[in-house]
Amino acid sequence: MPFSKLGLPPALINGVKAMGYVDPTPIQLRAIPVVLGGGDLIGSAQTGTGKTAAFALPVLARLGKHEARGPRVLVLEPTRELAAQVETAFRDFGRFTDIRATVVHGGVGYGRQRSEIQAGTDIVIATPGRLMDFLNERTLRLDALQILILDEVDRMLDMGFLPVVKDIIARCPKERQTLFFSATVPPEIAAVASFALRNPDRVEVGVNRSVNTSVNHALYPVAHDQKFELLEALLAKIDFDSVLVFSRTKHGADKIARRLKSANHSVAVLHANRSQNQRIEALAGFKSGKYEVMVATDIAARGIDVAGISHVINYDVPENPEDYVHRIGRTGRAQAVGDAFTLVTPENASDIRDIQRFIGQKIPELKLEGFNYAPIVARPEQPAQQRGGNRGGGYRSGPGGGGQQRSSGGGGWNRSGGGGGRHGR
Ligand code: AMP
Repeated sequence: MPFSKLGLPPALINGVKAMGYVDPTPIQLRAIPVVLGGGDLIGSAQTGTGKTAAFALPVLARLGKHEARGPRVLVLEPTRELAAQVETAFRDFGRFTDIRATVVHGGVGYGRQRSEIQAGTDIVIATPGRLMDFLNERTLRLDALQILILDEVDRMLDMGFLPVVKDIIARCPKERQTLFFSATVPPEIAAVASFALRNPDRVEVGVNRSVNTSVNHALYPVAHDQKFELLEALLAKIDFDSVLVFSRTKHGADKIARRLKSANHSVAVLHANRSQNQRIEALAGFKSGKYEVMVATDIAARGIDVAGISHVINYDVPENPEDYVHRIGRTGRAQAVGDAFTLVTPENASDIRDIQRFIGQKIPELKLEGFNYAPIVARPEQPAQQRGGNRGGGYRSGPGGGGQQRSSGGGGWNRSGGGGGRHGR
């Protein structure tokens, strides 16, 4: 079904066309009619499915045109990047309307946000902390609010925002439409949902544990000592446009970035300790192609929407299986094909098992052809059940080398063989 059959007004159909979208994605097909009808909604869809348009388009349709009575829509987002991105989406889709959207988040001055609110805005897209500041100083009032959107609620929980989110919900008018998006719904989140929503429709698209089918993902077993070397070798071998490298820690991200810079890569870093200006500069530089590599932590990278990320490399295995799906969802967005590689050391065996269980599939193991692998050794305390063949002792490039090879032998990443390192983080 085309966008034009979904009941959206012509100005928004034109906005969608100007974005280059041809057909609605499954979540758009299912959520748009529910939201247009005024009902509450719990939506779950994996990242990159077009979730933002699924709520932004019908919400813009319901607003119709600009009104001076204060914000009628509030969107809560867990991170500044996501808030900025959703504001851009509202502006893009609504470019042929006079509806005004304002982003409100920390890390930047209050002045500009305050004057936009005071000038009269229809949609506020906010992170919880800064929103509370404006509510407390009474710059922002929620009396005219008609639609509340809680986006990425599971991430709000991770970041400790749930109490303030509940406080904000309590300040909204009782008569309203509420849209709620969360990849997972653990009990704390279910409690917020039952507090915030009335007879919601549920829209689940795909399984939010699943990896986009357009992403080729693979594990690259390696000795801990060789992780950086393998990262460099992968970067040298793959034909990439832009690569997002994930580190578990901020300190680790800085270190990887430093080492990549000294290897002459143009590198941006994104993590929560960077100032807002540094984060903006990093993202803008990465989008424009000034930086070919961006090293990021999970929280900072949540929701990054950069077209054309050709590769995601998990330098560190994510701690939380759900983050695996989010990380690799940064590539292969909206039907493009992307590659996602995860460097694994024997210490990561149980995390990898958790991820495979979570996504319900085994991730293939690859070796980088021509890379001089040191023996990969399991720590003595590691269980031996996943022991594969001894692939230690260096890996030779086969004829016509230069590509990647599917590894032969067992599917484990605990290796026998002498030498190799064992390291804590
Ligand atoms: P989201 O899941 O909202 O972060 O969207 C992921 C990416 O898909 C963004 O780059 C969107 O601009 C893009 N996108 C969303 N809906 C469509 C569509 N119907 N057709 C093509 N691209 C889309």
